[in-house]
Amino acid sequence: MTEAWQESFKKSLKSIEQVNQFFGTNLPELPYEILIPPSLAKRIKENGLDSVLAKQFLPSAEEVMSSQEIGLKDPIGDQNFAKQGQLIHRYKNRALFLPTTICPVICRYCFRKNELSEKDEIFKANFEKTKSYLNNHQEIEEIIFSGGDPLMLSNSKIEFFLEEFSKIPHLRYIRFHTKAPVSLPNRVDQGLLKILERFTHHFETLSLGIHINHSEEIDEQVESSLLKLRDIQRLQLLSQTVLLKNVNDCPHILENLFKDINKLGVRPYYLHHPDKVRGGMHFQVDIPVGRKIFASLRSNLPGWMIPQYVLDIPQGHGKTPIYNPEQIEFKGFLMDLNQDMIKL
Ligand SMILES: *Cc1c(COP(=O)(O)O)cnc(C)c1O
Ligand code: SF4
Repeated sequence: MTEAWQESFKKSLKSIEQVNQFFGTNLPELPYEILIPPSLAKRIKENGLDSVLAKQFLPSAEEVMSSQEIGLKDPIGDQNFAKQGQLIHRYKNRALFLPTTICPVICRYCFRKNELSEKDEIFKANFEKTKSYLNNHQEIEEIIFSGGDPLMLSNSKIEFFLEEFSKIPHLRYIRFHTKAPVSLPNRVDQGLLKILERFTHHFETLSLGIHINHSEEIDEQVESSLLKLRDIQRLQLLSQTVLLKNVNDCPHILENLFKDINKLGVRPYYLHHPDKVRGGMHFQVDIPVGRKIFASLRSNLPGWMIPQYVLDIPQGHGKTPIYNPEQIEFKGFLMDLNQDMIKL
């Protein structure tokens, strides 16, 4: 019997003292939250302090240096968008639903790293308001559970929300953006699998957008969780990968990742250019470098195994493909190749 995920989560490393004690490190106090679940902490230790797991999830002094002045607090401009109840409605036919700020792990490059700890109004908003907004907006066809990590909600909460959404006839698609199957694999428990299976029959498409950046994140437990999800016939498994300096900014690493997740039934969906987030600037990749990496994927992978390479344009202009230089011009804004300047 594997441990319940709530028990694992409670044993997470939460402070710099706990991290230093567990890893034998001597890291300074950081202005950002820390959270590493025990199974991941163990794997980081096994793989070493300069492994790609450590780089992504172990706090580092570089965060302090890069938190001084560069980088944006709200790099994708979510804050400019109309929040309705717990929704962010930026694109016409789909809305983000934010029911929690909690994640099982705090990724050091997280684009919300300056927000997650500030308990934003949106997370306190009530569900009645969310429902009434949805009922008044027939154009919304998809609800995307985000956060935080929506799989940090209990099964009964998830079931409740899906139940409520299934009563709104124009909602055809449901998606969860989550890292939990990778960061806390025992979260994929029997109860959750049952709920997902059941609701694949209530919506045209039920998807999981799984956040994964490197094949090293896949151990036996992760593999087994993903295979259980793959066994749900009508569930669509997609991936989201963030391009990160010194983690996966290399065509071979990405190629292996996309092949490895394909074996587990996960289809590459987005490759995100890293956001310029304060405290995460050491993960930045230059756009011309990103384009070169992306271009080389085309000769080594079939088209259906290649994600879309996108950048969330600051100030709330949304995700836009950045492979072709001409696509950098967007809605009257022009961005230079180093993603530095935005001019009107
Ligand atoms: C990313 C995002 C979505 C989802 O966009 P897709 O292109 O459908 O994956 C929806 N709303 C907001 C605010 C987003 O940032
Ligand atoms: S899982 Fe996503 S939202 Fe959560 S800490 Fe990582 S990047 Fe941020």
